[in-house]
Amino acid sequence: APTRTLYTYSESARIFTEAKELMPGGVSSPVRAFKSVGGSPIVFDRVKGSKAYDVDGNTYIDYVGTWGPAIIGHADDKVLEEVKKTMDKGTSFGAPCVLENELAKMVIDAVPSVEMVRFTNSGTEACMGMLRLCRAYTSREKIVKFEGCYHGHADSFLVQAGSGVATLGLPDSPGVPASSTKSTLCATYNDVGSVEELLKEGDVAALILEPVVGNSGFIKPTKEFLQGCRDLCDKYGTLLVFDEVMTGFRVAYGGAQAYFGVTPDVTTMGKVIGGGMPVGAYGGRRDIMDLVAPAGPMYQAGTLSGNPLAMTAGIETLKVLKQPGQHDKLEAASKKLVDGILAHAKANGHAATGGYAGGMFGFFFCEGPVTCFADAAKADMEKFGRWHAGMLERGIYLAPSSYEAGFMSLAHTDEDIEKTLEIAGEVMAMI
Ligand code: PMP
Repeated sequence: APTRTLYTYSESARIFTEAKELMPGGVSSPVRAFKSVGGSPIVFDRVKGSKAYDVDGNTYIDYVGTWGPAIIGHADDKVLEEVKKTMDKGTSFGAPCVLENELAKMVIDAVPSVEMVRFTNSGTEACMGMLRLCRAYTSREKIVKFEGCYHGHADSFLVQAGSGVATLGLPDSPGVPASSTKSTLCATYNDVGSVEELLKEGDVAALILEPVVGNSGFIKPTKEFLQGCRDLCDKYGTLLVFDEVMTGFRVAYGGAQAYFGVTPDVTTMGKVIGGGMPVGAYGGRRDIMDLVAPAGPMYQAGTLSGNPLAMTAGIETLKVLKQPGQHDKLEAASKKLVDGILAHAKANGHAATGGYAGGMFGFFFCEGPVTCFADAAKADMEKFGRWHAGMLERGIYLAPSSYEAGFMSLAHTDEDIEKTLEIAGEVMAMI
């Protein structure tokens, strides 16, 4: 193997040590703390294109992309230019602005299930609004989610949720009242039978899923599973909800519902539609959305919702993504990366399995296939920790948990991917 100077992180370590005194775990969101890979997090100084630059002067090829939003690359020149122009007119109106119409039209045009949309400030808020809406529309209380799917941190969703909850081994969270989760039922991903068991008991307002899972690592549904969910919802009068906070505009311009050709009743979004600014959204059929206040009686609000800065970053990001062929490029890059990583794993005798959809990908250190959370939990987490640290100190920034997906961007070049694979070969031989 070539001799490389491995990165050191003394300034990151100094800042993080101080941060731990100031903020719980030193972070503003749990998975960033690197707990599941055992290391200490890198403190970023700036990001651009496919790269992240840390406070020690190290440069990384970044496959986290601020957890999904940076799909056209970090800090895109045109996005920044338009955001600066908007900022000159003020940062928040708390009153209607025409930019909301513009982003709403783009979302409605793109996403098959969405006829009307409500903007929020985060994916969590979008999912909270969606949940209340589904209950209001159906006059039912129960919801069915899937083990290992994450829908933000609202009480009702913190049941067998993936992401940070899985990473930290907290199946539930203290502080969530039993009354908030008693109506939340959990089915097994890719298992239509487990869904029907729960729906047939009745009173289920919504069946909610990540239409490609990214919060238990990357897990792809079968088309039959998604169609089965659609058919069961029709049979039992339950609303089908795709939580496309991660997959929206990422696996395809119209999200996973366009990618697989299965249309839900309600969709939640976030991440990409804010182009790196805080945005979430939920939308669906007009007759459902008409219930949302002030058109209807279901209350949901937000001081900063639809603010001009966030709308601008979203609009400019979607304009780039909408160009023909962008998602083919993203998927080709994801495929090249995953195929290459799996080949290096195999050549070095590691059990591994993985997949991709558009600009989203992942792999596990275990025999495949991984079709649900229980499969994902069998992956070798210690080996993942060694892999993560080896990649990091050679300049490749991957999500710091086996329970997270990877994110490709349009700024990742062939050269970036080839360099990543060369390093992956070295690290696979070492772990
Ligand atoms: N739903 C899904 C599918 C997500 O991946 C996430 C965040 N990773 C959320 C909801 C919550 O979004 P936010 O972190 O913006 O609150």
